[in-house]
This record gives sequence, C-alpha cells and structure tokens, in this order.
Amino acid sequence: YINSSEAHRSGPVQIVQCRSKQLAVMSKPRFDGKVVIVTGGASGIGEAMARLFAASGATVVVADIQDALGEALAASIGPPCTYARCDVTDEAQVEATVAAAVAAHGRLDVMLSNAGILLLTGSVTDMDLSALDRVMAVNFRGAAACVKHAARAMVAAGTRGAIVCTGSVACVQGGYGPASYTASKHALLGLVRSAAGELGRHGVRVNLVSPGGVATPLSIAVAGMGVEEMEAMTEAGSLLRGKVLRADDVAEAALFLASDQAGYVSGHNFVVDGATTVAIPSLLESIGL
Ligand code: NAD
Repeated sequence: YINSSEAHRSGPVQIVQCRSKQLAVMSKPRFDGKVVIVTGGASGIGEAMARLFAASGATVVVADIQDALGEALAASIGPPCTYARCDVTDEAQVEATVAAAVAAHGRLDVMLSNAGILLLTGSVTDMDLSALDRVMAVNFRGAAACVKHAARAMVAAGTRGAIVCTGSVACVQGGYGPASYTASKHALLGLVRSAAGELGRHGVRVNLVSPGGVATPLSIAVAGMGVEEMEAMTEAGSLLRGKVLRADDVAEAALFLASDQAGYVSGHNFVVDGATTVAIPSLLESIGL
C-alpha cells in the first residue's frame, strides 16, 4: 500500500481503491524515452518484439538483413522506429548499428539479440560442418557480437540497460532441432550466464527468452507445412492445452525481462513452452496422471 505521491515517484503504477486503503498495481511495462535494438526484427518473433516495444513507448531500431521487410515494418510502426541493415555475423555491422542508434537517439537501453537460423544439417554422423559454422555464426557468434557492443555502449554511458537474447527450448534439451541448432543455443545459454555475471557490476542485466515451437517463417520452412498445420501440431505436442504459443507471447516475455519490473532478474533462462521441457508425457501417463 502506498499513497499517490509515492505512486507518482515509483513509475508506472495504477492506484486502485481497496476498501479504505489504496492498492498499487503495477501496470504493463512502459519504455517511454528508451531506445531498443531488435536484431532479426523484420520477421516472426523479432517483428512481434518490435511492434510490442514500440507500442510500449520505445524508440525501436529494427535490425535485419531482409531490407524490404524491415523497411516496411518500420514504416508501418511509424516514427521514431527505423530500420538498419545489420548482418550479425559481421561484427563491424553490429558495432555500427549500436553506434548509429546511440548517435541518433542519445542512448541504448535494450538490446534484443534475436536473429537466428535453423539449417537442416543432418544427423551428427554425417553433419555438414560448414553448415554448422553458419548456424554458429548467426545464433552464437552473432549474439556474442550483439551482447559485446550493446554492453560496451551501456557501460560507457552508465545506462542500467537490459540485454535479452532469444534462446529456445533447444537451450536446455536436445531433440528440438538438429545438433547444430541445439549446440548453438546451448552455447548462447553459456554466453548469457557469463555476461550476466560480468555485467552486473555495471547494473546491466542479461537474460534469455526461450520459446517452444512458434509458427514463423523459420519453423514453417523447416517443418514444410503451413501456419495452421504447424500450430495444430505444436498444440497437440504441448502439455498446456487450449493455448497456442505465438510470437506475441514471446514478445510479452521479452518485454517483462527488459523492463524495470524485472529489475533484479539477470542470468535467467525464461522458458516459454507450457511446461514441455519440465515433464515427460509418456511417464505421466505410465503413472496414471
Ligand atoms: P524468422 O525467420 O521469422 O526470423 C528470424 C529473423 O532473423 C529473420 O528476419 C532473418 O532475416 C533474421 N536473420 C537471419 N540471419 C541474420 C543475420 N545474419 N543478421 C541479422 N538478421 C538475421 O524466425 P523466428 O522464428 O522469428 O526466429 C527468431 C528467433 O527465435 C531465432 O533466434 C530462433 O532461433 C528463435 N526461436 C524460434 C522458434 C520457433 O519455433 N520459431 C523457437 C525457439 C526459438
């Protein structure tokens, strides 16, 4: 219980009358005045993140290699959202994108390192190692470049920033994709934990948002099916019934992780999978549950 003057100072709260007392209820996170870069922002989960953070008041820089899609998205969100071409496998482009955002907007508050690919690299026994290199270059090395240059900008400016990397259920369990993809996401988990430990002294938080299957161009291409078919398949394989995981759900989780409401959350792997990686359906059935 707080009074309204305290409420005003404490930021985005609503005051609700509760019998004789006032109840402070945290409202949705706001990002007014904050600057956010989202890599892989032109499509799928990144697009949902760009739209949600912009709707929450942020100045969003959509960074991607799909120029036409990225430009169209930035235009549909409207100013001050912009598009920047940024291939995360090229460290110089990541550094330049961060520098350009700081030059244009004066600060960087949030890095959403979300760009990722999944290549069908085959069984480990005949894995195409050059394809493995490509997957690692985007999903792991690219994310490392984003964490590095975002953290540098935040530390240099004394910004209590937040970095959220898009992981996957493949961060914690095999079998959700080829070994190359799983290895890249496990490596990303290690990067995030290390970075969170190091950057805490500067007030910078680093977390992962790790979704289960979402029907996006990435997963649809791999599964070789349409959106509805893929959503029906993922719902049937999920332990949480009556709900299909969508890109917007992942964006909401990232919004929380990046917000002041998650101000003491760092080094966390926020799995968004309806409990799929924490229980084994066949074992539940075998004991009658
Ligand atoms: P998507 O293909 O819709 O979006 C990925 C975006 O990354 C694309 O816009 C693409 O152009 C961009 N990208 C690829 N290589 C890039 C590079 N070198 N530099 C900059 N941008 C690049 O796929 P999505 O499903 O939205 O994937 C987003 C993230 O979510 C990825 O990290 C992916 O591994 C992760 N993820 C997806 C699922 C899923 O089921 N879709 C599940 C778990 C995790």
